[in-house]
Amino acid sequence: MREERHDVIVVGAGPAGSVTARVAAEHGLDTLLIDRNLEIGVPVKCAEGVSKEIEELVTLDKKWVCAEAKGANIYSPDGTKVVMATETMEEVGYVLERRIFDKFLASEAARAGAQVRVRTEAYDIIKEDGYAKGVYARGMEENTRIHAQVVVGADGVESRAGRWAGIDTRLPPSEVSTCAEFLMCGIELDSNFSEFFLGSKIAPKGYAWVFPKGGDCANVGLGICGDVSNEKHHAIDYLHAFVRNKFPEGKVIAEMYGAVPLSGPLNESVADGLILVGDAARHVNPLTGGGITYAMRAGEIAGDVIAKAIQENDYSKKRLKEYESRCKDKFGKRLNTGLKAKKFFFELSDKDLNTLAHSLEGVKITELTPWALLKELIKRNPKRLFGLAKMLF
Ligand SMILES: Cc1cc2nc3c(=O)[nH]c(=O)nc-3n(C[C@H](O)[C@H](O)[C@H](O)COP(=O)(O)OP(=O)(O)OC[C@H]3O[C@@H](n4cnc5c(N)ncnc54)[C@H](O)[C@@H]3O)c2cc1C
Repeated sequence: MREERHDVIVVGAGPAGSVTARVAAEHGLDTLLIDRNLEIGVPVKCAEGVSKEIEELVTLDKKWVCAEAKGANIYSPDGTKVVMATETMEEVGYVLERRIFDKFLASEAARAGAQVRVRTEAYDIIKEDGYAKGVYARGMEENTRIHAQVVVGADGVESRAGRWAGIDTRLPPSEVSTCAEFLMCGIELDSNFSEFFLGSKIAPKGYAWVFPKGGDCANVGLGICGDVSNEKHHAIDYLHAFVRNKFPEGKVIAEMYGAVPLSGPLNESVADGLILVGDAARHVNPLTGGGITYAMRAGEIAGDVIAKAIQENDYSKKRLKEYESRCKDKFGKRLNTGLKAKKFFFELSDKDLNTLAHSLEGVKITELTPWALLKELIKRNPKRLFGLAKMLF
Protein backbone atom coordinates (compact mmCIF):
# COMPACT_ATOMS: atom_id res chain seq x y z
CA MET A 1 0.00 0.00 0.00
CA ARG A 2 1.26 3.47 -0.87
CA GLU A 3 2.04 5.85 2.01
CA GLU A 4 1.57 9.63 2.08
CA ARG A 5 1.91 12.29 4.73
CA HIS A 6 0.11 15.63 5.03
CA ASP A 7 -0.81 18.03 7.81
CA VAL A 8 -4.52 17.78 7.05
CA ILE A 9 -6.64 15.30 5.09
CA VAL A 10 -10.12 16.56 4.16
CA VAL A 11 -12.59 13.84 3.14
CA GLY A 12 -15.26 15.23 0.79
CA ALA A 13 -15.07 18.18 -1.60
CA GLY A 14 -18.52 19.71 -1.10
CA PRO A 15 -18.79 23.29 0.21
CA ALA A 16 -17.74 22.23 3.74
CA GLY A 17 -14.61 20.34 2.66
CA SER A 18 -13.44 22.81 0.02
CA VAL A 19 -13.73 25.82 2.32
CA THR A 20 -11.96 23.95 5.16
CA ALA A 21 -9.16 22.94 2.77
CA ARG A 22 -8.82 26.48 1.40
CA VAL A 23 -8.54 28.06 4.86
CA ALA A 24 -6.13 25.38 6.13
CA ALA A 25 -3.95 25.89 3.02
CA GLU A 26 -4.09 29.67 3.45
CA HIS A 27 -2.58 29.08 6.89
CA GLY A 28 0.32 27.33 5.17
CA LEU A 29 -0.72 23.77 6.01
CA ASP A 30 0.02 20.88 3.68
CA THR A 31 -3.60 19.96 2.90
CA LEU A 32 -5.04 17.15 0.79
CA LEU A 33 -8.72 17.34 -0.28
CA ILE A 34 -10.19 14.11 -1.64
CA ASP A 35 -13.55 13.22 -3.16
CA ARG A 36 -14.86 9.83 -4.21
CA ASN A 37 -16.62 11.24 -7.28
CA LEU A 38 -15.11 11.60 -10.74
CA GLU A 39 -16.10 15.22 -10.89
CA ILE A 40 -16.53 17.70 -8.05
CA GLY A 41 -20.08 19.08 -7.86
CA VAL A 42 -21.58 16.12 -9.74
CA PRO A 43 -24.08 14.59 -9.15
CA VAL A 44 -25.92 17.61 -7.77
CA LYS A 45 -28.06 16.70 -4.80
CA CYS A 46 -29.52 20.07 -3.97
CA ALA A 47 -32.26 22.60 -4.81
CA GLU A 48 -29.42 25.18 -4.98
CA GLY A 49 -31.21 28.05 -3.23
CA VAL A 50 -29.25 30.37 -0.95
CA SER A 51 -30.03 33.61 0.83
CA LYS A 52 -28.08 36.81 0.28
CA GLU A 53 -25.95 35.72 3.22
CA ILE A 54 -23.76 33.88 0.68
CA GLU A 55 -22.27 37.28 -0.23
CA GLU A 56 -20.61 37.36 3.20
CA LEU A 57 -18.75 34.19 2.28
CA VAL A 58 -17.80 34.52 -1.35
CA THR A 59 -17.75 37.09 -4.16
CA LEU A 60 -20.66 36.37 -6.47
CA ASP A 61 -19.87 35.23 -9.98
CA LYS A 62 -22.40 35.01 -12.79
CA LYS A 63 -20.78 31.71 -13.84
CA TRP A 64 -22.44 29.94 -10.95
CA VAL A 65 -25.49 32.11 -10.19
CA CYS A 66 -28.43 30.94 -12.35
CA ALA A 67 -31.12 33.20 -11.04
CA GLU A 68 -31.75 35.96 -8.53
CA ALA A 69 -34.79 35.62 -6.31
CA LYS A 70 -36.59 38.84 -5.48
CA GLY A 71 -38.88 37.13 -3.01
CA ALA A 72 -40.67 33.98 -2.00
CA ASN A 73 -44.28 32.84 -2.27
CA ILE A 74 -45.52 30.32 0.25
CA TYR A 75 -48.77 28.46 -0.49
CA SER A 76 -50.84 26.86 2.27
CA PRO A 77 -52.72 23.58 1.58
CA ASP A 78 -55.84 25.45 0.34
CA GLY A 79 -53.71 27.61 -1.99
CA THR A 80 -53.61 30.79 0.10
CA LYS A 81 -50.50 32.72 -0.91
CA VAL A 82 -48.16 34.42 1.56
CA VAL A 83 -45.71 36.81 -0.10
CA MET A 84 -42.24 37.56 1.26
CA ALA A 85 -40.41 40.33 -0.62
CA THR A 86 -38.70 43.63 0.07
CA GLU A 87 -40.46 46.89 -0.84
CA THR A 88 -37.73 47.73 -3.34
CA MET A 89 -37.77 44.26 -4.93
CA GLU A 90 -33.99 44.02 -4.67
CA GLU A 91 -32.73 40.46 -4.82
CA VAL A 92 -33.01 38.51 -1.57
CA GLY A 93 -31.43 35.27 -2.63
CA TYR A 94 -29.90 33.28 -5.44
CA VAL A 95 -30.25 29.95 -7.17
CA LEU A 96 -26.80 28.51 -7.76
CA GLU A 97 -25.41 26.15 -10.38
CA ARG A 98 -23.71 23.80 -7.94
CA ARG A 99 -21.95 21.79 -10.63
CA ILE A 100 -19.91 24.96 -11.21
CA PHE A 101 -20.06 26.47 -7.72
CA ASP A 102 -18.61 23.38 -5.99
CA LYS A 103 -15.80 23.24 -8.58
CA PHE A 104 -15.13 26.93 -8.00
CA LEU A 105 -14.79 26.36 -4.22
CA ALA A 106 -12.44 23.40 -4.79
CA SER A 107 -10.34 25.43 -7.22
CA GLU A 108 -10.09 28.19 -4.60
CA ALA A 109 -8.68 25.57 -2.22
CA ALA A 110 -6.23 24.48 -4.94
CA ARG A 111 -5.22 28.08 -5.61
CA ALA A 112 -4.49 28.49 -1.90
CA GLY A 113 -2.10 25.53 -2.15
CA ALA A 114 -4.22 22.49 -1.26
CA GLN A 115 -3.86 19.31 -3.31
CA VAL A 116 -7.19 18.19 -4.75
CA ARG A 117 -7.74 14.58 -5.77
CA VAL A 118 -10.94 13.15 -7.25
CA ARG A 119 -11.94 9.47 -7.56
CA THR A 120 -10.39 8.82 -4.17
CA GLU A 121 -12.63 7.32 -1.51
CA ALA A 122 -11.74 7.11 2.17
CA TYR A 123 -12.83 3.71 3.49
CA ASP A 124 -11.45 3.70 7.02
CA ILE A 125 -9.56 5.77 9.50
CA ILE A 126 -5.98 5.32 10.75
CA LYS A 127 -6.01 5.31 14.54
CA GLU A 128 -3.01 5.60 16.85
CA ASP A 129 -3.37 5.78 20.64
CA GLY A 130 -7.05 6.67 20.23
CA TYR A 131 -6.27 9.55 17.85
CA ALA A 132 -7.41 9.80 14.22
CA LYS A 133 -4.13 9.97 12.32
CA GLY A 134 -5.27 9.79 8.71
CA VAL A 135 -7.41 7.66 6.43
CA TYR A 136 -7.14 4.62 4.17
CA ALA A 137 -8.24 5.59 0.68
CA ARG A 138 -9.16 3.68 -2.46
CA GLY A 139 -7.83 5.41 -5.54
CA MET A 140 -7.89 4.82 -9.26
CA GLU A 141 -4.96 2.44 -9.26
CA GLU A 142 -4.02 1.53 -5.72
CA ASN A 143 -4.97 2.02 -2.12
CA THR A 144 -3.15 4.63 -0.07
CA ARG A 145 -2.49 5.08 3.63
CA ILE A 146 -2.78 8.85 4.01
CA HIS A 147 -1.27 10.03 7.29
CA ALA A 148 -2.29 13.42 8.71
CA GLN A 149 -2.26 15.33 11.99
CA VAL A 150 -5.95 16.16 11.60
CA VAL A 151 -8.73 14.37 9.68
CA VAL A 152 -11.68 16.44 8.48
CA GLY A 153 -14.92 14.54 7.87
CA ALA A 154 -16.73 16.67 5.29
CA ASP A 155 -18.35 13.62 3.76
CA GLY A 156 -21.95 14.80 3.72
CA VAL A 157 -25.19 13.45 5.12
CA GLU A 158 -24.07 9.80 4.77
CA SER A 159 -20.84 10.59 6.64
CA ARG A 160 -18.86 7.61 7.89
CA ALA A 161 -15.82 9.53 9.12
CA GLY A 162 -17.48 10.40 12.43
CA ARG A 163 -18.54 6.81 13.06
CA TRP A 164 -15.01 5.56 12.37
CA ALA A 165 -13.80 7.92 15.12
CA GLY A 166 -16.49 6.76 17.56
CA ILE A 167 -18.96 9.66 17.22
CA ASP A 168 -22.64 8.69 17.18
CA THR A 169 -23.88 10.15 13.88
CA ARG A 170 -27.00 8.00 13.53
CA LEU A 171 -30.09 9.73 12.19
CA PRO A 172 -33.47 8.22 13.10
CA PRO A 173 -36.05 8.39 10.26
CA SER A 174 -37.90 11.18 12.08
CA GLU A 175 -34.80 13.37 11.73
CA VAL A 176 -34.16 13.07 8.06
CA SER A 177 -36.01 14.39 5.04
CA THR A 178 -36.07 12.16 1.98
CA CYS A 179 -36.16 14.23 -1.19
CA ALA A 180 -36.81 13.90 -4.89
CA GLU A 181 -36.27 16.66 -7.42
CA PHE A 182 -36.61 17.25 -11.16
CA LEU A 183 -34.82 19.86 -13.19
CA MET A 184 -37.72 20.92 -15.41
CA CYS A 185 -37.91 23.06 -18.51
CA GLY A 186 -40.79 24.37 -20.56
CA ILE A 187 -42.75 25.44 -17.51
CA GLU A 188 -44.61 28.63 -16.73
CA LEU A 189 -43.23 30.28 -13.63
CA ASP A 190 -42.53 33.65 -12.05
CA SER A 191 -38.77 33.64 -12.50
CA ASN A 192 -38.31 36.31 -9.81
CA PHE A 193 -39.79 34.22 -7.01
CA SER A 194 -38.89 31.01 -5.20
CA GLU A 195 -42.06 29.13 -4.34
CA PHE A 196 -42.92 26.80 -1.46
CA PHE A 197 -46.01 24.56 -1.22
CA LEU A 198 -47.29 23.10 2.05
CA GLY A 199 -49.83 20.37 2.80
CA SER A 200 -50.11 16.73 3.80
CA LYS A 201 -51.26 15.77 0.29
CA ILE A 202 -48.33 17.61 -1.33
CA ALA A 203 -45.45 16.73 1.02
CA PRO A 204 -46.32 15.33 4.48
CA LYS A 205 -44.01 16.76 7.16
CA GLY A 206 -42.13 18.69 4.51
CA TYR A 207 -42.74 20.96 1.56
CA ALA A 208 -42.45 21.19 -2.20
CA TRP A 209 -40.30 23.84 -3.86
CA VAL A 210 -39.96 25.52 -7.23
CA PHE A 211 -36.66 27.40 -7.54
CA PRO A 212 -36.19 29.26 -10.85
CA LYS A 213 -33.03 28.37 -12.76
CA GLY A 214 -33.34 30.96 -15.52
CA GLY A 215 -35.73 31.17 -18.47
CA ASP A 216 -38.46 28.53 -18.36
CA CYS A 217 -36.44 26.12 -16.17
CA ALA A 218 -36.62 25.37 -12.45
CA ASN A 219 -35.64 22.92 -9.78
CA VAL A 220 -38.96 21.33 -8.80
CA GLY A 221 -38.72 19.04 -5.82
CA LEU A 222 -40.01 18.04 -2.44
CA GLY A 223 -38.94 16.45 0.80
CA ILE A 224 -40.97 14.32 3.18
CA CYS A 225 -39.96 13.26 6.66
CA GLY A 226 -38.33 9.82 6.90
CA ASP A 227 -40.96 8.61 9.37
CA VAL A 228 -43.78 9.03 6.81
CA SER A 229 -41.75 7.59 3.96
CA ASN A 230 -42.54 3.89 3.34
CA GLU A 231 -43.49 1.52 0.52
CA LYS A 232 -46.75 3.39 -0.01
CA HIS A 233 -45.34 6.88 0.45
CA HIS A 234 -42.26 7.68 -1.58
CA ALA A 235 -41.04 11.23 -2.16
CA ILE A 236 -40.92 10.50 -5.91
CA ASP A 237 -44.63 9.53 -6.00
CA TYR A 238 -45.57 12.80 -4.30
CA LEU A 239 -43.35 14.64 -6.77
CA HIS A 240 -45.01 12.98 -9.77
CA ALA A 241 -48.42 13.99 -8.39
CA PHE A 242 -47.25 17.57 -7.73
CA VAL A 243 -45.76 17.98 -11.21
CA ARG A 244 -48.82 16.42 -12.92
CA ASN A 245 -50.98 18.99 -11.22
CA LYS A 246 -48.73 22.05 -11.45
CA PHE A 247 -46.66 21.62 -14.62
CA PRO A 248 -48.44 19.04 -16.79
CA GLU A 249 -46.67 20.30 -19.93
CA GLY A 250 -43.18 20.55 -18.35
CA LYS A 251 -40.26 18.40 -19.45
CA VAL A 252 -37.99 16.61 -16.98
CA ILE A 253 -34.32 17.18 -17.89
CA ALA A 254 -32.74 15.57 -14.82
CA GLU A 255 -33.80 13.62 -11.73
CA MET A 256 -32.19 13.72 -8.32
CA TYR A 257 -32.70 11.93 -5.00
CA GLY A 258 -31.11 12.80 -1.68
CA ALA A 259 -31.48 13.18 2.06
CA VAL A 260 -31.29 16.17 4.38
CA PRO A 261 -30.49 15.85 8.10
CA LEU A 262 -33.14 17.60 10.22
CA SER A 263 -31.73 16.75 13.65
CA GLY A 264 -29.92 19.98 14.42
CA PRO A 265 -26.16 19.93 15.03
CA LEU A 266 -24.51 16.86 16.55
CA ASN A 267 -23.80 17.12 20.27
CA GLU A 268 -20.22 16.15 19.49
CA SER A 269 -18.58 17.07 16.21
CA VAL A 270 -14.94 16.59 17.26
CA ALA A 271 -12.83 13.68 18.49
CA ASP A 272 -9.11 13.31 19.11
CA GLY A 273 -7.57 14.25 15.74
CA LEU A 274 -10.89 14.67 13.90
CA ILE A 275 -13.40 17.38 13.03
CA LEU A 276 -16.78 16.94 11.29
CA VAL A 277 -17.98 19.78 9.09
CA GLY A 278 -21.19 20.62 7.19
CA ASP A 279 -23.84 17.92 6.68
CA ALA A 280 -21.54 15.40 8.39
CA ALA A 281 -21.95 17.49 11.58
CA ARG A 282 -25.67 18.11 10.75
CA HIS A 283 -25.04 21.80 10.15
CA VAL A 284 -28.39 22.23 8.39
CA ASN A 285 -31.37 24.37 9.31
CA PRO A 286 -34.01 21.76 10.27
CA LEU A 287 -36.87 24.09 9.33
CA THR A 288 -35.76 24.90 5.78
CA GLY A 289 -33.28 22.11 4.98
CA GLY A 290 -30.72 24.71 3.85
CA GLY A 291 -27.10 23.79 4.59
CA ILE A 292 -24.79 25.42 2.02
CA THR A 293 -23.93 28.59 3.92
CA TYR A 294 -23.64 26.77 7.26
CA ALA A 295 -21.25 24.26 5.66
CA MET A 296 -19.10 27.14 4.40
CA ARG A 297 -19.12 28.99 7.72
CA ALA A 298 -18.19 25.80 9.57
CA GLY A 299 -15.40 25.21 7.03
CA GLU A 300 -13.94 28.65 7.69
CA ILE A 301 -13.91 28.00 11.43
CA ALA A 302 -12.54 24.46 11.06
CA GLY A 303 -9.61 25.57 8.87
CA ASP A 304 -8.70 28.24 11.37
CA VAL A 305 -8.91 26.02 14.47
CA ILE A 306 -6.92 23.25 12.75
CA ALA A 307 -4.14 25.74 11.94
CA LYS A 308 -3.92 26.78 15.59
CA ALA A 309 -4.03 23.18 16.83
CA ILE A 310 -1.19 22.19 14.49
CA GLN A 311 0.86 25.20 15.53
CA GLU A 312 0.41 24.17 19.18
CA ASN A 313 1.01 20.49 18.36
CA ASP A 314 -2.24 19.66 20.19
CA TYR A 315 -4.89 17.76 18.21
CA SER A 316 -6.84 16.55 21.23
CA LYS A 317 -10.62 16.64 21.33
CA LYS A 318 -10.27 19.22 24.10
CA ARG A 319 -8.25 21.53 21.84
CA LEU A 320 -10.54 21.02 18.84
CA LYS A 321 -13.59 21.88 20.94
CA GLU A 322 -12.88 25.51 20.09
CA TYR A 323 -14.34 24.65 16.67
CA GLU A 324 -17.58 23.44 18.25
CA SER A 325 -18.00 26.48 20.46
CA ARG A 326 -17.25 28.92 17.62
CA CYS A 327 -19.80 27.17 15.37
CA LYS A 328 -22.32 27.39 18.20
CA ASP A 329 -21.66 31.13 18.59
CA LYS A 330 -21.87 31.75 14.85
CA PHE A 331 -25.00 29.80 13.92
CA GLY A 332 -26.01 27.45 16.76
CA LYS A 333 -28.93 29.59 17.87
CA ARG A 334 -30.38 29.71 14.35
CA LEU A 335 -30.17 25.94 13.95
CA ASN A 336 -31.73 25.32 17.36
CA THR A 337 -34.55 27.78 16.68
CA GLY A 338 -35.09 26.01 13.35
CA LEU A 339 -35.25 22.67 15.15
CA LYS A 340 -37.90 23.90 17.60
CA ALA A 341 -39.94 25.52 14.83
CA LYS A 342 -39.73 22.36 12.70
CA LYS A 343 -41.05 20.22 15.57
CA PHE A 344 -43.93 22.65 16.04
CA PHE A 345 -44.90 22.84 12.36
CA PHE A 346 -44.69 19.07 11.85
CA GLU A 347 -47.54 18.71 14.34
CA LEU A 348 -49.87 21.14 12.53
CA SER A 349 -52.79 19.88 10.46
CA ASP A 350 -53.63 21.25 7.01
CA LYS A 351 -56.49 23.15 8.68
CA ASP A 352 -54.04 24.79 11.11
CA LEU A 353 -51.72 25.76 8.26
CA ASN A 354 -54.61 27.27 6.30
CA THR A 355 -55.73 29.28 9.34
CA LEU A 356 -52.20 30.63 9.83
CA ALA A 357 -51.91 31.54 6.14
CA HIS A 358 -55.30 33.32 6.24
CA SER A 359 -54.02 35.45 9.13
CA LEU A 360 -51.32 36.77 6.78
CA GLU A 361 -53.58 37.46 3.80
CA GLY A 362 -52.75 40.86 2.32
CA VAL A 363 -49.65 41.18 4.52
CA LYS A 364 -46.29 41.52 2.76
CA ILE A 365 -43.39 40.28 4.83
CA THR A 366 -40.50 42.46 3.80
CA GLU A 367 -37.62 40.50 5.28
CA LEU A 368 -36.98 37.18 3.61
CA THR A 369 -36.00 34.98 6.51
CA PRO A 370 -37.83 32.17 8.29
CA TRP A 371 -37.58 34.24 11.48
CA ALA A 372 -39.41 37.20 9.94
CA LEU A 373 -42.22 34.85 8.94
CA LEU A 374 -42.38 33.25 12.39
CA LYS A 375 -42.45 36.65 14.13
CA GLU A 376 -45.26 37.88 11.89
CA LEU A 377 -47.25 34.69 12.48
CA ILE A 378 -46.83 34.94 16.24
CA LYS A 379 -47.82 38.63 16.19
CA ARG A 380 -51.04 37.81 14.35
CA ASN A 381 -51.86 34.57 16.20
CA PRO A 382 -50.66 35.18 19.77
CA LYS A 383 -52.99 32.65 21.42
CA ARG A 384 -52.66 29.90 18.84
CA LEU A 385 -48.88 30.21 18.69
CA PHE A 386 -48.27 30.85 22.38
CA GLY A 387 -46.46 27.50 22.67
CA LEU A 388 -44.19 28.29 19.73
CA ALA A 389 -43.44 31.79 21.04
CA LYS A 390 -42.52 30.34 24.42
CA MET A 391 -40.16 27.85 22.78
CA LEU A 392 -38.47 30.42 20.59
CA PHE A 393 -38.18 33.57 22.67
C1 LIG B 1 -32.76 17.47 -2.24
C2 LIG B 1 -31.89 18.45 -1.51
C3 LIG B 1 -32.12 19.79 -1.66
C4 LIG B 1 -31.32 20.72 -0.98
N1 LIG B 1 -31.54 22.05 -1.21
C5 LIG B 1 -30.78 22.96 -0.58
C6 LIG B 1 -30.94 24.34 -0.86
O1 LIG B 1 -31.75 24.75 -1.70
N2 LIG B 1 -30.15 25.22 -0.20
C7 LIG B 1 -29.22 24.81 0.72
O2 LIG B 1 -28.55 25.66 1.32
N3 LIG B 1 -29.04 23.50 0.99
C8 LIG B 1 -29.78 22.57 0.35
N4 LIG B 1 -29.57 21.23 0.59
C9 LIG B 1 -28.53 20.85 1.55
C10 LIG B 1 -27.15 21.03 0.95
O3 LIG B 1 -27.08 20.32 -0.28
C11 LIG B 1 -26.09 20.51 1.93
O4 LIG B 1 -26.33 21.06 3.19
C12 LIG B 1 -24.68 20.86 1.48
O5 LIG B 1 -24.37 20.28 0.23
C13 LIG B 1 -23.68 20.40 2.53
O6 LIG B 1 -22.37 20.49 2.07
P1 LIG B 1 -21.27 19.44 2.55
O7 LIG B 1 -20.00 19.89 1.93
O8 LIG B 1 -21.37 19.25 4.00
O9 LIG B 1 -21.72 18.04 1.93
P2 LIG B 1 -21.89 17.60 0.41
O10 LIG B 1 -22.17 18.74 -0.46
O11 LIG B 1 -22.86 16.47 0.45
O12 LIG B 1 -20.45 17.03 0.01
C14 LIG B 1 -19.95 15.83 0.56
C15 LIG B 1 -18.89 15.30 -0.40
O13 LIG B 1 -18.22 14.21 0.24
C16 LIG B 1 -17.92 13.22 -0.73
N5 LIG B 1 -17.71 11.95 -0.01
C17 LIG B 1 -18.61 11.29 0.75
N6 LIG B 1 -18.02 10.19 1.30
C18 LIG B 1 -16.74 10.18 0.88
C19 LIG B 1 -15.63 9.31 1.11
N7 LIG B 1 -15.76 8.22 1.92
N8 LIG B 1 -14.46 9.59 0.53
C20 LIG B 1 -14.33 10.66 -0.30
N9 LIG B 1 -15.35 11.54 -0.55
C21 LIG B 1 -16.53 11.29 0.03
C22 LIG B 1 -19.14 13.23 -1.65
O14 LIG B 1 -18.82 12.72 -2.92
C23 LIG B 1 -19.47 14.73 -1.70
O15 LIG B 1 -18.84 15.36 -2.79
C24 LIG B 1 -30.31 20.27 -0.10
C25 LIG B 1 -30.07 18.90 0.04
C26 LIG B 1 -30.84 18.00 -0.67
C27 LIG B 1 -30.56 16.53 -0.54
